[in-house]
Amino acid sequence: MTDLKAHISGVVYDLIASEATKLGIQAYVIGGYVRDIFLERKNTDIDVVCIGDGIELAKNVAKQLNPKPKVSVYKTFGTAHFKWKDQDIEFVGARKESYQRHSRKPDVEIGTLEDDQNRRDFTINAMGIALNENNTGTLLDPFNGLQDLDAKIIRTPLDPDITFSDDPLRMIRAIRFATQLNFRIEETTYKGLIRNIERIHIVSQERITDELQKIIASPRPSYGFKLLYNTGLLQIIFPELCALQGVEIINNFKHKDNFYHTLQVLDNLAAVSDNIWLRWSAILHDIGKDSTKRLTESGWTFHSHEVVGSKMVKPIFKRMRLPLDHKMKYVRKLVYLHLRPISLAQDRVTDSGIRRLLYEAGEELDDLLILCRADITSKNEAKVKKYLSNFQHVEDRCKEVDEKDRLRNWQPPISGECIMDAFAIGPSKEVGLLKKAIREAILDGEIQNNYDEAYSFMLNEAQKLGLSQKSRL
Ligand code: ATP
Ligand code: MG
Repeated sequence: MTDLKAHISGVVYDLIASEATKLGIQAYVIGGYVRDIFLERKNTDIDVVCIGDGIELAKNVAKQLNPKPKVSVYKTFGTAHFKWKDQDIEFVGARKESYQRHSRKPDVEIGTLEDDQNRRDFTINAMGIALNENNTGTLLDPFNGLQDLDAKIIRTPLDPDITFSDDPLRMIRAIRFATQLNFRIEETTYKGLIRNIERIHIVSQERITDELQKIIASPRPSYGFKLLYNTGLLQIIFPELCALQGVEIINNFKHKDNFYHTLQVLDNLAAVSDNIWLRWSAILHDIGKDSTKRLTESGWTFHSHEVVGSKMVKPIFKRMRLPLDHKMKYVRKLVYLHLRPISLAQDRVTDSGIRRLLYEAGEELDDLLILCRADITSKNEAKVKKYLSNFQHVEDRCKEVDEKDRLRNWQPPISGECIMDAFAIGPSKEVGLLKKAIREAILDGEIQNNYDEAYSFMLNEAQKLGLSQKSRL
């Protein structure tokens, strides 16, 4: 039996109890913090509900603490918050909510503890622990949340049609908690969720994306994506990914299901990296396959899907309200390059191929290799083994060439200024052509990566363009 008193002991809890008594009101810790005590997960967000004025209670408690924390008051929400040591403590008066059909923002009235528990999303999130002097440490669990925690079940406290229709974000939260905790969504709740998926349209994209990010950050994100897909929510919030689902067989030519393949890649990657943007590149690496799919005489092809896919990254990020800064560019670059190491492994591994890869991938090389390794999926174990060993060869060669040539963040030894100076010309097409020719010659191994060789190569190329060297005085 968990000793709840031990989890609510300390100066803050004692003060909440004594100040609540002085005000003649009851106070409870409620929600995620209580759930996480039983799950033995660390949680520093504490929600305190009181049957009365939460703001007044917060202020009175803060006054007694030393040093006195700064209380932030949100009058419109009737909440107050302060930080104490490493804890974020939020106070709110118990509330009863009623919803209008077009909005997930409820009308709020003062309510009882029971009203407040009724408006919670899941039974496991509706438990409270009393903080009052006469009943400290008592668990208030009207919906048997503890039982559901033990059985690993996500279930709405009320009829799911009410819980989900009132605030449809809870549908994605159900899937998020199931994925994070590896829980099952209870059948009545699941059926109710499916009945309400269209309601997701009233939820803002920011909120949906917030939950989606938590699904992606989970240990096995594919579970969440499959739930989203099977309920029909993914079709609404991420149609491009759903378009990858399906296997087509024509004239005995068959291709793999790119949706399930993508989820496998995502799980493979999640097993080795917590980098959420690298996980996004796994989600999007084959996103261009739907529109590039063709049947040729030798079978299905997805020619240039990495180019088409990389162009889809920005519009998808924009719609999802994900950042459009260097994080988006990083994902776009990885999608664009994701075939390179694999195709190198299949062809002869030439020095120039490796150099090009190092030059183009730059700082992202290590992440690109992690992505590519995760991309090796097949039901045929012998095949996977063979691919992985070819791939290891490419990785080793990358390391070798990288140490030798230092091509990451590389700049060719002759700059644009140097070219303009040499021929006494201004910025022009010729400067660009020469710069490119020098870079390509070095990457192809025609000349060595140093100033002297590059300079004489430049003079040669310039002659072909009809440029003559500035006469030196
Ligand atoms: P985490 O902090 O890991 O996201 P959490 O359960 O603490 O998990 P919060 O979003 O911080 O989730 O919410 C705290 C509590 O508030 C929840 O445990 C739940 O009781 C309640 N809650 C939050 N969002 C909703 C919602 N949309 N509908 C109903 N109750 C909610
Ligand atoms: Mg929380």
